[in-house]
Amino acid sequence: MRTQQHGRDAYDVVVVGGGTAGLSAALILGRSRRSVRVVDAGEPRNAPAAHMHGYPSRDGMPPAAFLAEVRREVAAYGVEIVRDRVTAAEPDEADGFVVTTADGGPVRARRLVVATGLVDAPPDLPGVAERWGKDVLHCPFCHGWEVRDQAIGVLYAKASGIHQALLFSALSDDVTLFLHGADEDALPDSDWQLLAAAGVSVVTGKLDGLVVTGDALAGVRLADGRVFARSVFVVPPRMTPRDGLLTALGARTRQTPAGPFVDVDPTGLTSVPGVWAVGNAAGAAEQVVNAASAGYRAGVTLHAELLHADLARAAERRRGGVFSPEGERAVARARASRSGA
Ligand SMILES: Cc1cc2nc3c(=O)[nH]c(=O)nc-3n(C[C@H](O)[C@H](O)[C@H](O)COP(=O)(O)OP(=O)(O)OC[C@H]3O[C@@H](n4cnc5c(N)ncnc54)[C@H](O)[C@@H]3O)c2cc1C
Repeated sequence: MRTQQHGRDAYDVVVVGGGTAGLSAALILGRSRRSVRVVDAGEPRNAPAAHMHGYPSRDGMPPAAFLAEVRREVAAYGVEIVRDRVTAAEPDEADGFVVTTADGGPVRARRLVVATGLVDAPPDLPGVAERWGKDVLHCPFCHGWEVRDQAIGVLYAKASGIHQALLFSALSDDVTLFLHGADEDALPDSDWQLLAAAGVSVVTGKLDGLVVTGDALAGVRLADGRVFARSVFVVPPRMTPRDGLLTALGARTRQTPAGPFVDVDPTGLTSVPGVWAVGNAAGAAEQVVNAASAGYRAGVTLHAELLHADLARAAERRRGGVFSPEGERAVARARASRSGA
């Protein structure tokens, strides 16, 4: 149950972000009888996709229906879930944080779980942003099966090289890699050999944009006017974590292939004591199932950490001569079980 401290609602944990990662942490914390408030702005990353794949038992479920189901489960354990946006989280003078939101009053939290996800910025090519998550895709594991055997275009990316084209070649015999002005001579011989072995065609010219017919991708247009009929176009988005709250608290970042992300230990704990970061806020590679797992791990660790902090304080008070009837009964039970009585 939430309590009051200095006139403000106070929780054991405020979870910022109610996507899979945040809700998964909230689920395990709620089941551990922690007072938890989830503040969610309601913009999960996979919202543009019609279906979610690769999550055992939920494969093919619409993302919004999946999250609605998880919210129902989490709320059943007394967790409060509100639609709002956290604008600041600052250290409290006591143990914990003051969390400020756009629409509600500030609340206190002893611990924070930041599960704010990331923002995808698809490449700046005409038509790409409009079709993002529909037939402009980025992930063979999320949507690859659904576009198997189709005419697939892949935009070359320096960071990942030809990797995406090779992955999609396992799903279709009709894959074309568009170099979009990248220097073809810079591709090593080994890449050309792999592309040939995978049956991937390569187009070298600069792209001008997409050709869309009705509500479907029809092709990819080059600057010289040529059009290549494609029903799917694979692009590399720039992925930027929504980590403003974390960096404002002083969380350390680390360099990753997708750019800087907040540094976390295997439980999601950041370099700021009391602050966990999970899901895409802490790593670009986290899929839904990984986000759920990260949230679970953080919830378990955080609960144990709070429990031990409280018990250590209670033991300290006891040593100082402050006794509670419940505490004394617990000590008596522990002694009795140790002596085999
Ligand atoms: C088009 C597309 C399709 C995808 N398909 C799949 C798929 O099929 N299978 C799969 O496993 N993965 C898929 N993914 C990846 C998937 O979206 C992520 O793995 C997953 O969303 C990560 O969960 P998360 O909880 O970390 O972040 P998110 O789901 O993005 O949730 C973050 C939440 O935090 C909220 N938030 C952010 N800032 C604040 C704030 N300051 N205050 C309050 N709330 C805030 C956001 O509004 C959002 O609701 C896809 C990604 C994309 C782009």
